Amino acid sequence: MNWFARILHRQKKSEHPRLAQVFFINTLSSQRELFVSQRPGIVLFYSCGPTVYGRAHIGNLRAYVFSDTIARVLTYAGYHVHRVINITDVGHLVGDGDQGEDKVSLGARREKTTPQEIADRYTKAFIDDITELNIDTKEIQFPRATDYIKEQIALARTLEEKGFAYRIEHGLAFDVSRFPGYGKLGHIDIEVQKAGARVEADPEKRHPADFWLWRSAKPDDLQQWDSPWGRGNPGWHIECSAMIRSLLGQEIDIHTGGEDHIAVHHNNEIAQSEAANGRTLAHYWMHSAFLTMNGEKASKSLGNVVYLSDLTDKGFHPLALRYFFLQAHYRTPLSFSWDALAGAASALERLWKLSRDVAGESKRISAPSETRERFLASVRDDLATPQALSILWDSLRGDEDGPEEKWGLIEDAEAHFGLSLLAPPTPGAVHASDIPQEVQQLLSSREEARSKKDFKEADRIRGEIENRGYRVDDGPEGVVLTKKTL
Ligand code: AMP
Ligand code: ZN
Repeated sequence: MNWFARILHRQKKSEHPRLAQVFFINTLSSQRELFVSQRPGIVLFYSCGPTVYGRAHIGNLRAYVFSDTIARVLTYAGYHVHRVINITDVGHLVGDGDQGEDKVSLGARREKTTPQEIADRYTKAFIDDITELNIDTKEIQFPRATDYIKEQIALARTLEEKGFAYRIEHGLAFDVSRFPGYGKLGHIDIEVQKAGARVEADPEKRHPADFWLWRSAKPDDLQQWDSPWGRGNPGWHIECSAMIRSLLGQEIDIHTGGEDHIAVHHNNEIAQSEAANGRTLAHYWMHSAFLTMNGEKASKSLGNVVYLSDLTDKGFHPLALRYFFLQAHYRTPLSFSWDALAGAASALERLWKLSRDVAGESKRISAPSETRERFLASVRDDLATPQALSILWDSLRGDEDGPEEKWGLIEDAEAHFGLSLLAPPTPGAVHASDIPQEVQQLLSSREEARSKKDFKEADRIRGEIENRGYRVDDGPEGVVLTKKTL
């Protein structure tokens, strides 16, 4: 079954045929708008993905927790969300413009391997990182730019045929003067930019804002393909336009990225797609603000980045980062510090403790409440996660809501926040794959004894397990094994 058939199939079975109202601030209009999808109940959603020449830093990860939160809000509101995050494995040059070396080739030279190997390595690292942040990667397509070269060439060819592109000595460039309204996203005035020379001057281009659709291969380019414009590789922007068209169609509902993409990358995507297709590329554009380090954007080129593995190496749970992100509104710059992260981690620990308590008190039965309505109104109002978090805290710490109302709120919160509130991790719990086989056998013998109500035998086996350095607890989700500290 293809994705569209699958969505229709699921939609038929859907328990929530009514769609809740959701509002977003659309970068295109700078206004708060009611979200209306083109097809009832279906959202076509594209997010610009990572350039896989190194690991994603926590600034990059903010952009993906943001897009995941949009998907969660819409899913809970009753939509079926079809998501694509592209993997850039060619064409993105150092400096983000049309100059410099290809980032993936650079990574390959740095690590003395092939671009393919680099892309594989860091795509896997990216998927692992976002999985640790509770982003459900099974629900997302991750197309790679190098798998869509044919489609990129076809799109560039259409633009050339329609007169939106011109040949240059070293490839093909998009002519922004032919696209009325260029720069509409974020109201970018390219003439002001030109005067201020904020766009690099390139003698081959008619206007500094023109950009390469295809560039001729340099002798040492590690990745190159044949094209109507000679051997070479695609410009960075064309991959998103081509993959959107191939995977989601000519007109999509939502497009996201970090705010650094507004001025150039996203205006270029709009120009390419709308010039070629004659249709609106995306109806809602949403952008997340930067994660900063000491007041500066976290960026690999500035060398001020932190990785998820740095956090976990220091003993932080990956979801402490997710909580840290959710404390700020996505359009507000967020300043990272280890102290602030420690604050988020301890708040999350307390939230987990409260959730465990409420799970016990409510017996995991939920009831409706006015608090839940307020919570949903907050997250559906342009993802007001800080307000939604404070509604959650007030309810869980107070006694206005009963245990079942609180549990219902926790279920709502989990659906939107993805913080493992329904089954909080137990500190020091041993992952199933790390349990030695001998201990696994003892655990199953203990389970068997318990199911036969032979508690004496079960206790004896528990002793055996403890002798091997593990503690056994019977939690609401089943047995939890932790390493005993010496
Ligand atoms: P890149 O791999 O450079 O293409 O970036 C991947 C995503 O991370 C893009 O959506 C960027 O806008 C976003 N991004 C890059 N740096 C930061 C930062 N410091 N804070 C938030 N988002 C960022
Ligand atoms: Zn893009």
